[in-house]
This record gives sequence, C-alpha cells and structure tokens, in this order.
Amino acid sequence: MQPRWIGVVVRLGLFGLWLSVATGCATRAGSEVESSAIPDSALAAIGASETTTTSDQPYIVVLGTAQDGGYPQIGCDEPLCRAARQDPSRRRTTASLLIADPRTGRRWLIDATPDLREQFERARPHPPTRKTAGPRPPLFDGVFLTHAHIGHYAGLMHLGREIYGADALPVHASQRFCKFLATNGPWRLLVDTRAIILKAAQPDVPIVLAPDLTLTPFVVPHRDEFSDTFGYVIRGPARALLYIPDIDKWERWDRRIEDLIAGVDVALLDGTFAAEGEIPGRSMKDIPHPFLAESIARFAALPAAERAKIRFTHLNHTNPAVDPDSPAAAAVRAAGHVVADEGEHHRL
Ligand SMILES: [Zn+2]
Ligand SMILES: [Zn+2]
Repeated sequence: MQPRWIGVVVRLGLFGLWLSVATGCATRAGSEVESSAIPDSALAAIGASETTTTSDQPYIVVLGTAQDGGYPQIGCDEPLCRAARQDPSRRRTTASLLIADPRTGRRWLIDATPDLREQFERARPHPPTRKTAGPRPPLFDGVFLTHAHIGHYAGLMHLGREIYGADALPVHASQRFCKFLATNGPWRLLVDTRAIILKAAQPDVPIVLAPDLTLTPFVVPHRDEFSDTFGYVIRGPARALLYIPDIDKWERWDRRIEDLIAGVDVALLDGTFAAEGEIPGRSMKDIPHPFLAESIARFAALPAAERAKIRFTHLNHTNPAVDPDSPAAAAVRAAGHVVADEGEHHRL
C-alpha cells in the first residue's frame, strides 16, 4: 500500500495535499473540479474510515470505479489482477455513486452492485447528519439504476428477506427495467414482499430529491437485452455531475457527449477498455465501449477546462489504467483527464 500512496501524493503535488488537509475539499491542479484530492484508497483500505466532507452542501461519493466484475476479477491470473490481490489498496469495486445531502440527512444510491455489502461501509458515514433510528433503519432513501447488466443491479439481492429485509425502499429505473424486475425471479420477490417499491423513471424528466437537487435520467445506446440503459445528470445548488458508466460508442448516440459535458462541472464517463485487443481470445465487437484511446482522441479538440471535467470510471480488470503508475493512466492525465478514484468526493 505504501508505494502506491506515495505515487498518488507525488502526482497530486504537495499543494493539493496541503489543500486537502486544510479544507477537506481541494481542487486538482489544472482542474475546476472540486474534489477530495486524496482518494480514500490512499488513506485507508476499503471499508475503513472515510475522509469527511466539511461542506453542508450536497455531494457525491464515488463508491466504485470498476467494470461489472470488479478488480481483480474472478479467475484472472494476469499480472494486473495478481498485483491487486497482493496489494488490496489497488482493488476497485464495481462502479457506483452515492448522493448525500447533509441538509436533510438523506442519501441515494446510483446502481446496486455485487459489491454493495462493502460499498455500504464506504457510504455509511454519509452524510454526517444522517439519523439512524431503530434497529433496521433504511439503508438509502432511494436507489437509481442505470441498466440490467449484472454489475449494476445484482446488489438488490441484499435488500430481500434473506439479508437486510428492506421496507419499501424506492427503486427507480426505466419503465422496461421496472417491468423486468417485477416479472422475473428472484427480483420479483423483492417487489411482491414490498422490500422495494418500483418507480418508473421517464427519460429527460428530472426527479426532485430536494428543491435545489435533481437527478435526470437519459437514454444511451448499450446492449439492451433486458432493459434500456440510462445515464444520469445530478444537479445540485452549485454544481452538476454527469454519469455514464456504460455506453456502446460515443458515435452511436444521437446526442453529442461534448454538449452534455459543457452543461456540467464533472463528467464521470465510461472508461471500460483502453484499446482494441485488450481481451485475449474474445472479440471486442460483442462488447462495444468507447476505448480510452478513442475518447482521448475525440476530446483532444476541447478546451483544457472541458477536458479537465472528464474522469474515467467503470474500468475493466484488463484496462492497464487501473494501475495509476501505468503508461495508460499517464496518457489519460497527459490528455488533461483523470482516472477516477475509489472514494473521491464531488460537491454539487
Ligand atoms: Zn457495466
Ligand atoms: Zn452494461
């Protein structure tokens, strides 16, 4: 853990370190992003205590940054996965966000991943004003799902009678996804027992979390076997964040990603694969994502301030950028972007 911690601090610079210690919320060099400068992975192993956000404004905590299978991945004996087994500080859990509002003590989850059990420990102290009365307080005030790929909703399994036994937890998803959950076991049991209450979300219609805090789903092209696929814009009193963990290719979308980036302060985007040929023995045509190389090339025309908003998440275990010391991660930074870190915070 020590060598990576040193690497992270050196990269961020002593100024960023000082800022984060002084304020708990710092700006990365060359970036307008107000984020915690030191990821909690550099401070403590997963599940240990979190850095606290001093602001009383709503904020996002990045609960996970890996593709559906997490990093390291089951059965993988490649050097990248071996390195993460030897050094747990390198691990990444499946992509997920927490929205926390200290003004009301409320919090919401975006995507319920197979890693939800340990990600809940990361979410537990947020917001600091949360009241946890009674023996089985609600885990969250709502869950928002992106799509029906296993890494994005399998964590719902923790909500049923076999485990937590949630009571009418609102789960928001597209109409098609709601129908899938309501009509297919084992998920149907969560609905029938009222562990969860399904809320069909309409694309491009904001969902109000507080008068000045909204979340708006929109449809992106993806492999939609059981559901369509949502991205989200979360808009707070001061800042906005764009979240697209899964999309086929930027060019297959009827919207220009650059237009959405222009309307937010932080853009957490699909960084699943670095480049073609990354998965030996598997055609990557069956699992399209924008390669980091393609995104970097596409976004190169943007002004530096726009490029600095972009942070890549949903990294596959084969993506060399999972290692901050890799040339692939250095190429992301050289292009003016960031590889998202587990536990980073973003004010809204
Ligand atoms: Zn995914
Ligand atoms: Zn997917």
